[in-house]
Amino acid sequence: MKNQNTNPILGICQLCLKVGELCNSHIIPEFLYKKLYNKNHQMMGINGRFRKGWKPVQIGEREHLLCESCEQHLANKIESAFKAMWVEANPLPDPWPSTEHIAQIKVDYPLFKLFHLSVLFRAGVSTRPQFNCVRLGSHEEKLREMLLELNPGKQNDYQIFGYAVIDPKTNRIRKLIAGADQKKFDGLRWYRFIYGGVWWWISASSHANLNMAPITLRENGTMVIRWFDWSNIPIIQKASALLRNSKV
Ligand SMILES: [Zn+2]
Repeated sequence: MKNQNTNPILGICQLCLKVGELCNSHIIPEFLYKKLYNKNHQMMGINGRFRKGWKPVQIGEREHLLCESCEQHLANKIESAFKAMWVEANPLPDPWPSTEHIAQIKVDYPLFKLFHLSVLFRAGVSTRPQFNCVRLGSHEEKLREMLLELNPGKQNDYQIFGYAVIDPKTNRIRKLIAGADQKKFDGLRWYRFIYGGVWWWISASSHANLNMAPITLRENGTMVIRWFDWSNIPIIQKASALLRNSKV
């Protein structure tokens, strides 16, 4: 599939802050969309802002954000590792054994964490409407430095947890991609994304919520993933409502 905008664009790279030619970067890396296509022969992006709610995705949402060197930095140092440990290793059970089942996963903490922070950072600097709600404030600069230095921070920095996105009729994981929404929960601001079969919650607050520690990613690489009915996820409900209300 051809990138629609092939003209080079000169601008400030959002990661290294140098002026240069910018790549048409992915917000959520394209390999997560490719997996959708190859496995299910369908690619579905969800975006409540579109009239129909559903929008077939041919290529990951892109924007001119990063220079070639930073694009390669993220791709080679972070994204390839996440692809291997999440997409290729496929650690989640599918179908999910039961609604009560809790999957215990073990990942490479630094690279797994940095991957999610890279999505959060790109969503924060993006001007695409799907990511409008992501306003990182002072965290943008912190995340920028962490990504450049490949520093994942402590487990209570930018806490992260996730739910498997499950179709309750089949208990199969729904492979969807959705733009971000945000929720203030128990004193923290959480940004939520759907990719890789999981509804990820990532906090961007100046303090941690230690009550959440048992379910968030730990520095030893362990994390629990729980079942969640995909039709109860707000961004999916919003998209479904728009779909029902439009004359398709
Ligand atoms: Zn750069």
